[in-house]
Amino acid sequence: MQTPALTLGDALREATQSLAAVSPTPRLDAETLAMHVCGATRAALITRSSESLDTEQYDRLRRLVAHRRAGEPLAYLTGTREFWSLALNVTPAVLIPRPETELLVECALARIPRDADGAVADLGTGSGAIALAIAHERPHCRVIATDTSPAALAVARDNAHHLGIGNVEFRLGDWLAPLGGKQFDIIVSNPPYVRADDPHLQEGDPRFEPKAALVGGLDGLDAIRHIAADARARLRSGGWILLEHGYDQADAVAKILADAGFCDIECHRDLAGNARVIEAR
Ligand code: GLN
Repeated sequence: MQTPALTLGDALREATQSLAAVSPTPRLDAETLAMHVCGATRAALITRSSESLDTEQYDRLRRLVAHRRAGEPLAYLTGTREFWSLALNVTPAVLIPRPETELLVECALARIPRDADGAVADLGTGSGAIALAIAHERPHCRVIATDTSPAALAVARDNAHHLGIGNVEFRLGDWLAPLGGKQFDIIVSNPPYVRADDPHLQEGDPRFEPKAALVGGLDGLDAIRHIAADARARLRSGGWILLEHGYDQADAVAKILADAGFCDIECHRDLAGNARVIEAR
């Protein structure tokens, strides 16, 4: 006698139950993994819930659920994360783009006229999220994005390629080092700014992300000090630097920028109300 085939709806319920103990959003996680395995939209998951799932898909879903139960980030399991409406590939070689980083893009775009053909640098680009979002919105600008990790740059180049964004050039090296003698209108960065002893490194997604992309030394400000010290010489007169930073670092970052000779320093809050992006001229 044949056992009745497992339906997509059954598999989703089972996955949700299995994730309930480890995730605050078990249903959402289960749906995201099932969408990935079945190549389906969220709406299709619902309309197809009484369809049977083949064993290969069921096994893949169960394997992914087991990884998620072990804490692995959803974005690494599906290999993708949306940022600024761009579907970016991500791997454990790169930080998973965060929604609050869209504020950095928004502030940078506010400083670049729509048809500008200026030069923009993105330091420590990781998946390329910031550089690609700006390049996409300002197609006449030329963006140079740097990263010290060859594996991260491979992900970023791959993203530029599959998104068809041609006005970004990726260069290997530390912060501003690969920029050569070039001058820029805008320099942006979401550098590592988490304190080395911050307990949130031991929780959730950051446990699986590259430490070099998260940790900015003992006080979290090492990379920001380094960038602030070198950026002025790479900016055209009147050019802007925009940096993401931790919710409690606005005053410290403002002082670092002022000491480095920047003026018109202003801080912007993210949607959660935290001071998150600083800009200076
Ligand atoms: N916002 C990230 C976090 O809190 C940190 C990102 C970064 O260091 N640039 O996990």
